[in-house]
Amino acid sequence: MKTKVLIIGAGPAGSMAAFRLASRGFRDFVLVDRCEFPRIKPCAGGISPSAFRFLEKAGLAHILADCKPSAEMKRLRFIGPRGQSLIMADNLKAMAINRAIFDETLLNEAKKAGAHFIPRFTARELLRDGNGRITGAMDGNRSIESEVTILATGCRNKNFRDKYCADKRPLRLIFSRIGWWKGFDLEESMMEMIFDRDYIPHYGWVFPEGGGMVNIGVCLYEDKLNGKNVAEVFNEYLAKYHAKRLSKATPVGRSLSFVINTTGSVKHVYSNSILYAGEAGRMCNPATGEGISFAMESGWLAADAVLQAYGRGGKPEERPLERYEEMCRKAFNSRLKRAALVSRLIDSPAFDFMIDISMTGFSRKMISRFLADM
Ligand SMILES: Cc1cc2nc3c(=O)[nH]c(=O)nc-3n(C[C@H](O)[C@H](O)[C@H](O)COP(=O)(O)OP(=O)(O)OC[C@H]3O[C@@H](n4cnc5c(N)ncnc54)[C@H](O)[C@@H]3O)c2cc1C
Repeated sequence: MKTKVLIIGAGPAGSMAAFRLASRGFRDFVLVDRCEFPRIKPCAGGISPSAFRFLEKAGLAHILADCKPSAEMKRLRFIGPRGQSLIMADNLKAMAINRAIFDETLLNEAKKAGAHFIPRFTARELLRDGNGRITGAMDGNRSIESEVTILATGCRNKNFRDKYCADKRPLRLIFSRIGWWKGFDLEESMMEMIFDRDYIPHYGWVFPEGGGMVNIGVCLYEDKLNGKNVAEVFNEYLAKYHAKRLSKATPVGRSLSFVINTTGSVKHVYSNSILYAGEAGRMCNPATGEGISFAMESGWLAADAVLQAYGRGGKPEERPLERYEEMCRKAFNSRLKRAALVSRLIDSPAFDFMIDISMTGFSRKMISRFLADM
């Protein structure tokens, strides 16, 4: 099969790229995913204020209403490293959705706009021409040839990163584990974030998903695991913070471990005709692990770069594709750098001090700004 543009991965990055291309009338592209949709994605499903803003800009805010069940998260209960429990933010514009539903809804929007989607295509190898340019992907003996590839495969595919990605910086992975329960006692419209000293600068959380369901998880850098695996850390976390409420709740499905690929700044997200979007390009908040907004926006920018590259018809021009990197840096670097700074602040004695003075308007304002920036 031959196409101008191949998009690999139909998470928020790939589906948003497909939606943007199709809704601008560009049809010579294919979106593939190794899964049939809906598919499970280990994720807390927090739709941050940034994700809201982006969906509004894309004219897709209505899909949040289509995602049912879902839950508003207007308030945040914050547990500090010395067990301090505070309601830190009120009237937040955040909600949680089930990722299987959200991703399928976004994919359906792309299909409605005209995207051609092929499920059960696992890109196991990329095709290369004699000049090292990527010219498509293979799944066993099936291949799709393309002129441009948008790689939106999330944090997986170490194989591709090692072989093709120009960004050779060491990875900054956050290890995480998540599970789902019904009947867990959580106040209406509340989310909980638990900054245990062992996980700092990251945290454990409880997010409502609507329909009586919550997801509970923990995330932390590898060097905070202290020789344990993330499942052991998760079990200790459940026992330490949630044992009483869990005794009355029922688990739904298995708990899952996953990594989150983050960075403090975007560097190389284009090389040899591949545009890296979403977590495949490390675009994810290093402080909160929020990646849905980065994925959608980078997918959109990748599509814009492609549209410009084909602006004059014929073969794609190189310069607009190269400009994708600048577009991503401009869109994300100040946010990523602020998040990296917050991460360092949380990992310092200043954090305890801030919680101690958290009754002051100043620190409340700081934390609300941080959350609005998520
Ligand atoms: C436990 C956990 C909790 C999280 N909580 C939040 C949160 O509350 N809010 C938030 O904003 N972010 C959260 N994140 C981060 C968020 O899930 C990701 O940043 C986001 O999903 C990245 O989107 P993406 O489109 O880049 O990749 P993904 O959503 O991972 O999508 C990648 C797609 O590519 C497909 N794929 C992978 N490899 C191949 C291949 N070789 N061939 C074909 N298809 C392939 C996969 O099947 C998948 O559909 C969380 C992450 C984790 C792990």
